[in-house]
Amino acid sequence: MTSNPSLACERLIREAAGRIASDTPRLDAELLLSHVTGWSRTRFRAWPEQDVSPEQADAFRALVDARVEGTPIAYLLGHQEFWSLSLRVSRATLIPRPDTECVVEAALSLPLPGSARVLDLGTGTGAIALALASERSGWSVRACDCVPEAVELARENARSLGLPVSVELSNWFEGLTPGTFDLIVSNPPYIEESDQHLGQGDVRFEPSSALVSGVDGLDDIRTILDHAPRWLSPGGWLLMEHGFDQAEAVRALFRARGFDAVESRRDYGQRDRMTLG
Ligand code: GLN
Repeated sequence: MTSNPSLACERLIREAAGRIASDTPRLDAELLLSHVTGWSRTRFRAWPEQDVSPEQADAFRALVDARVEGTPIAYLLGHQEFWSLSLRVSRATLIPRPDTECVVEAALSLPLPGSARVLDLGTGTGAIALALASERSGWSVRACDCVPEAVELARENARSLGLPVSVELSNWFEGLTPGTFDLIVSNPPYIEESDQHLGQGDVRFEPSSALVSGVDGLDDIRTILDHAPRWLSPGGWLLMEHGFDQAEAVRALFRARGFDAVESRRDYGQRDRMTLG
């Protein structure tokens, strides 16, 4: 029985789901109420009449308002699943995407030594570096980002997951502690300045420094390609995510800088989403 119907879980969830215009309104509402109360989603189903406190209802409604305005669910919850890991996220970083899990798969498929030295450039939450460290305990994984808050967040994720990834503040290779790597991997910004999709959906709330890269979206990819050869061990690999329509241009940039074994690989949507060499 509920003492105050306006505080009952099911009613709060229904009201919220009716206002949220995402693909998954009910799920979003349940996740937000779960975040506020600490209760599981199953518990809402099993016990729909259960009351939350008035303070919890207020906190929930504030989160729902933000969701209605389009704030990504991951920023409201403060975490996002990536690979098999739960990562803390903040507005200083891009929200890790499933497509980037394909970059992790590609990295794991390369013929690399058991003690490979790996660098993740522009790590954000630490997603790629942490996923690789979680799969290959023999690899020595370093990561960098040019945003201090991202460096802190990636370090915190490494600490809380107990994964030995060291994270430095560095704008690409500028300021990076010297070393050579068997694999350099990156999900750099690669969206064109004028891309219409920057005005839609989650990306409106994400840092443009993590998304946009000049007129053709390739400025940062060119910068990385210019410097990477000096940081790679002989036979080392460079692997970068890019837009699904950039593969041909990126392969040409790799070849122009003397990379061989250049090939593109696909994301879960079967679109060329990364190139390696
Ligand atoms: N794939 C992301 C998007 O299109 C962009 C990620 C990036 O720029 N690295 O929203």
